[in-house]
Amino acid sequence: MGNWLNYKKTIILSTLIALPLFLIGWNEKQSSIKRWGFFGHKRINRIAVFTLPPEMFGFYKEHIEYLTEHAVDPDKRRYAVEGEAPRHYIDIDHYAKDGENPFEIVPKRWNDAVQKFSEDTLQTYGIVPWHVLLMKKKLQRAFEAKNIDLILKYSADIGHYIGDAHVPLHTTENYNGQLTNQKGIHGLWESRLVEINAENYDYFVGKSKYIKNTNEHIWKALQTAHFALDSVFRFEIEVTKDLGTDKKYSFEKRGNTTVRVYSYEFSQEYHRRLNGMVERILKNAIASVGSFWYTAWVDAGQPDLSDLQNKKPSEKLLEELKSIDEEYLSGKAKGRICE
Ligand SMILES: [Zn+2]
Repeated sequence: MGNWLNYKKTIILSTLIALPLFLIGWNEKQSSIKRWGFFGHKRINRIAVFTLPPEMFGFYKEHIEYLTEHAVDPDKRRYAVEGEAPRHYIDIDHYAKDGENPFEIVPKRWNDAVQKFSEDTLQTYGIVPWHVLLMKKKLQRAFEAKNIDLILKYSADIGHYIGDAHVPLHTTENYNGQLTNQKGIHGLWESRLVEINAENYDYFVGKSKYIKNTNEHIWKALQTAHFALDSVFRFEIEVTKDLGTDKKYSFEKRGNTTVRVYSYEFSQEYHRRLNGMVERILKNAIASVGSFWYTAWVDAGQPDLSDLQNKKPSEKLLEELKSIDEEYLSGKAKGRICE
């Protein structure tokens, strides 16, 4: 009981201290990062830490900066690693003809899906659900081995892929509105709207829960995301019509360059019509990330993480991450991105 109270106190205190700090950090970095989509991923991993039970909280809290900062490694890896891109999405509508429910057509288990469609096809149209499950296994093994590097690496990574699986535009071939003359909608939904509104969201999602069936859980998230697409596309068209195309964009200074962005007015009207969708999805993603971390730890036999406290990730891991950064800053993306 005493532990629990302490734990609650730590959460409240840490949230109060941590929130303003990372907000300042973000504003400063805003102009130096390549993509805005980073913002949401960092927030998801960071807040997921606060959903964890006391046995995990100490370790995760100690590494909260790592988990926040490296929430975006998988996106950076798209510039360094062949085969990374399909891990971030699934074009589920590719598999269905008009009126069919694609979720009834694509087998949920990897082997069944490979048998039905071939691995090449799955890789072409994205493998996010299966990659989340693979990461969960890897994280579980890292817990079993009490390998601090791998626990951190896979915790940060799985947080990213789970986040992607919740985003409607990560579940369609029309991922950037390119097929419906709505090009740019990807960044509008997952970056612009989040960036403007993130401070007004309520992030209380409660405690992480054990996920009995991880496969079903991630597919349910994808299904929810996919069925929200209708609103995502429709409201963009409606707001464009209602406000007029001349009010759709404005120009903002980013460092030394001026870039065209969706105007504040357009973005906020779109956000209003989405009726809480972005916040709801962000919260669901946070709850899922915390629950996946927790489930991997339980399935590993609940190892005592206090032995791992006050230890840092190895130089080797940090070197590896640095080289991904360098590739990212200098390289060209290998596969799909939505800048
Ligand atoms: Zn991603």
